[in-house]
Amino acid sequence: MDLYEHQGKELFRRFGIPVSDGRLATTPEEARQAAEELGGRVVVKAQVLTGGRGKAGGVKLAEGPADAEQKAREILGLDIRGHVVHKVWVEAASEIAKEYYLSITFDRGAKKPLLMLTTRGGVDIEEVAASSPDALARLHVDPLEGFQGYQARRVIYGAGVGDPSEQKQLVAIIGKLYKAFVESDAMLAEINPLIVTPDGEVKALDSKFTVDDSSLYRHPEIAGWRDTAAADPLEAFAREKGVTYVKLDGEVGILGNGAGLSMSTVDVVVVAGGRPANFCDLGGGGSAEGVVDALEVITRDEQVRSVFFNIFGGITRCDEVARGVLQALEQMNLELPLVIRLDGTNAEEGRRLLEEAAPRNLFVEPTMLEAARRAVELAE
Ligand code: GDP
Ligand code: MN
Repeated sequence: MDLYEHQGKELFRRFGIPVSDGRLATTPEEARQAAEELGGRVVVKAQVLTGGRGKAGGVKLAEGPADAEQKAREILGLDIRGHVVHKVWVEAASEIAKEYYLSITFDRGAKKPLLMLTTRGGVDIEEVAASSPDALARLHVDPLEGFQGYQARRVIYGAGVGDPSEQKQLVAIIGKLYKAFVESDAMLAEINPLIVTPDGEVKALDSKFTVDDSSLYRHPEIAGWRDTAAADPLEAFAREKGVTYVKLDGEVGILGNGAGLSMSTVDVVVVAGGRPANFCDLGGGGSAEGVVDALEVITRDEQVRSVFFNIFGGITRCDEVARGVLQALEQMNLELPLVIRLDGTNAEEGRRLLEEAAPRNLFVEPTMLEAARRAVELAE
């Protein structure tokens, strides 16, 4: 689960990492009110779960309440790479002397958290890593030994931070970020930029924080922060129905049994010249109920013009899936063409059942590629 900047900053605040005072606003008037309460200059920041908001016009400085209202009006409703802004974070503006970058990620290869620090923050960190890898100090923390102060000092020297006051503040911040990372079961904790003000104060100006979904049961409060209203309405609907679904932006709806097969199905539709509308994994089994739920989610997307249902029967038997599909079609009013490819256990029996029932919008194809081509053709 990715946290919004304001949620990440709330966590930072609780762990003692310095952040600016701020307020959440959903309307321009609330932004004005927030700026009044904060006083002075403020920065109005789009709350969306994607980076690069600054470049996209989602972060703007405002001189006071009236300006904050105006900036919020410009930012609210903005579409930042498919994420519509419903909320802005209004915080007391900071003066920036330096922009650093600090992160802890989970390095699965090393099976250890990886600490990274560079004095060249603010810009594209991938570019710094690619063009001048030496500028990025990296250090693995052994989870059994835990985090030690010398490790913070090592990355601080490695990154070339020379100022003793900054060094001291950074040691504290790195220790607290590590604590936040471990205690929240995080997969990522990133501060970019971690600024130094002209007065020499080090603080977090941004937050990118990801909590492991599997551990959310241990963090009910964070789990409750999930914003179902602002999330993609289709993905929220899918979650409600217990369907594994990711929205994409094409026209061919995709349904497969098993994550690997579903991903291959996305690929084969692209090979056939089409654009997948989604990724959807039916999981094992092919009960009518599961099929209805999945089809309801997929077809709720108005861009979908055809659906490709790709089944490989292993433990799941194709004849059962075929019965499930036929029942599903009886239960729901599906207008769109549905292309089915059945292979594996009892495939012939499954195909026979479908061909005998022969609903008019059902197309049975023998191979994955032929089915993809048919689904793409029907979506045109
Ligand atoms: P991102 O673009 O999504 O990573 O959003 P950030 O929160 O990192 O903000 C982008 C940029 O806006 C930062 O790198 C800063 O240069 C600038 N910025 C953000 N907050 C402030 C602020 O309080 N004062 C000033 N002067 N600039 C800010
Ligand atoms: Mn940032």
